[in-house]
Amino acid sequence: MPSFPTLDDARVDGRRILVRVDFNVPLKDGGVGDDTRIRKSLPTLRELLQRDATLVLCSHLGRPKGPQDDARMEGVAAHLGTLLERDVRYLATPGPGADEQQAFVAEAPRGSVTLLENTRFDRRETANDPELAQVLASYADAYVNDAFGAAHRAHASTEGVARLLPSCAGRLLERELRVLGGLLEAPERPFVVVLGGAKVSDKIGVIERLLEVADRLLIGGAMAFTFVKARGGNVGDSRVEEDRLELARELTEAARSRGVELLLPTDALCAREIAAEAETSVHDVDAIPAGLLGLDIGPSSIEAFLAALDDAATVLWNGPMGVFEVSPFDTGTRKLAEALAASSAMTVIGGGDSVAAINDLGLADQMGHISTGGGASLELLEGKTLPGVAALGSVAWD
Ligand code: ADP
Ligand code: MG
Repeated sequence: MPSFPTLDDARVDGRRILVRVDFNVPLKDGGVGDDTRIRKSLPTLRELLQRDATLVLCSHLGRPKGPQDDARMEGVAAHLGTLLERDVRYLATPGPGADEQQAFVAEAPRGSVTLLENTRFDRRETANDPELAQVLASYADAYVNDAFGAAHRAHASTEGVARLLPSCAGRLLERELRVLGGLLEAPERPFVVVLGGAKVSDKIGVIERLLEVADRLLIGGAMAFTFVKARGGNVGDSRVEEDRLELARELTEAARSRGVELLLPTDALCAREIAAEAETSVHDVDAIPAGLLGLDIGPSSIEAFLAALDDAATVLWNGPMGVFEVSPFDTGTRKLAEALAASSAMTVIGGGDSVAAINDLGLADQMGHISTGGGASLELLEGKTLPGVAALGSVAWD
């Protein structure tokens, strides 16, 4: 695990603190849809306010290439104000670092909370432009990064500014790094990894790394069909990455040689199309008739997967078992989520869609740790250095 300074090491009391949060939330009717990411930042913000800090917050929202009215932080500021039960100052500006923003931040009263406009309104953000980093640094005495979901990007508000101010990780980033980093270092065993979702190619690095530490690897989702086809199975019209068949064979072999038990589905719930009213049938996973798509793991696979989780002490889950957005293809994902919610194992969930599925099911509170970073959690699990973390602590605290 990388070493990094935390709020315990930081002299934040009574000072102006720039906090990079991850408020990249879905918007709905001008307000905030799922507010999980905002809620997860509250412990850090409350702690800083208790320590008499003045807060200047910044985040990106969506992927705008310039100022865009439907990507303003206004609704987020209002929502945060409700959650914090205090006024959150916000000024719509063409971007971060605009002249009017500099004046607005300079006027921030002691103990106030200001949320800056969407950092991505300024192209200098993703270019990690030193000038923008300078402007952001001029807003505060110190910098706290709590945006795990953006820590794998070297942007001005995540990496650049951390090189200019005394800095540390916030409580959310700290927990993400400890939990996910700990999985690779010393997981309690048996350590079972469940992978699913759309593509093998998205998760190759993680699979390779996890094969070094996991005791058992369960693969569901569309990803499973590439493995099944690679060993000669007939998967009908299921989603397969033809250019990854060789890789799937190599990973299967790597699991065998490392003594990792690899479990693929044995049956699949199939239909001609992805539609709620489609006629469904269950087939052996390597004998799916032409014209049919495997859209979820089948009933025998569900049973086998749950049995393989039974004695687990640690479980990492990334990627849904099927097309969970459309019932009845959500069954495998739901049964897995319910089993993990009831499990006494340390359960760690990563991946945007898997987390969304758990939130929809209302099971989030019953999991050990739900990661707020899709891409960031994958990169961390691959063993990559996250630039936003590596930059923390480059300037000494006075
Ligand atoms: P996560 O965001 O949790 O990492 P991914 O983005 O990798 O997950 O994959 C999620 C997507 O995979 C979902 O949109 C889901 O519909 C799709 N998916 C899962 N299983 C299948 C399948 N059998 N066929 C087609 N798509 C699938
Ligand atoms: Mg996804």
